Amino acid sequence: MSKLYLVDIEGTIVKDKSFVPIEGATDWIKSFGSSPHQFALVSNNTTHRPEDLLSELKSLGFEIQKENLITCMSTTLNWIKKKGIKSCFVIGSAQLKEYLNESGIKTPSDDRVEAVLVGLDSSLDYQKLKVAVNALVKNDASLLALHSNRLYKDEKGELSPSVGAVVKALEYSCQKRAKVFGKPNLEIFREALKRFKAKSEDCIMISDDPLSDLVGAKRLGMKSVFVTSGKYKDENILKSLNKRFQPDWIYKSVKEIRI
Ligand SMILES: [Mg+2]
Repeated sequence: MSKLYLVDIEGTIVKDKSFVPIEGATDWIKSFGSSPHQFALVSNNTTHRPEDLLSELKSLGFEIQKENLITCMSTTLNWIKKKGIKSCFVIGSAQLKEYLNESGIKTPSDDRVEAVLVGLDSSLDYQKLKVAVNALVKNDASLLALHSNRLYKDEKGELSPSVGAVVKALEYSCQKRAKVFGKPNLEIFREALKRFKAKSEDCIMISDDPLSDLVGAKRLGMKSVFVTSGKYKDENILKSLNKRFQPDWIYKSVKEIRI
């Protein structure tokens, strides 16, 4: 029976933001070529356009094609297009703006927009928050978030506030709920199921984050694998997790998973 493996990137096949491949991960991905199973890398990356992320991973030796990569950026763009939204105020990277512009979505720097889109923005300032608040309250723009993670480690390994911190601030100020696309929200998993015409019960999600990624997968009835190669070095973190969200299998790294 053919399975669909959904595989997280940072902490699972590469070492966090430094993007050094985890030992054995490139060969493990390669082994899908001679197996009846399919795979998709599922990422909450908000700073690389999907095509740039794809070339970066290829340059590291990962044998992947366009269809093997699903990011919250592509999931969000698909939704924006489906809803006919033409303009967004972006709190996020230059690459995110560029990605939207390429699809004809305008990204002005004032509040006259249909949506406010939040990704990771390392140059966030008070002025941007002010424009966003005005767009949300005065112009009743929709609040969209690429994901709502709390923390991440940056390229230097320093702990930093993630997208969710900014989303919560805007939700609080404007009394609006954001529509969130990345893991653990179901939107990005649904995109994977749709793309591969797969059923949840035939999917296995593999990630270093049992609290976020694996909980989302479990909610949809997928199997889950926790790898201790990233964020968490042991199983202690699982103590805080409800029984129904416990992973089905635990491995040190992907290379131990036989496909
Ligand atoms: Mg991860």
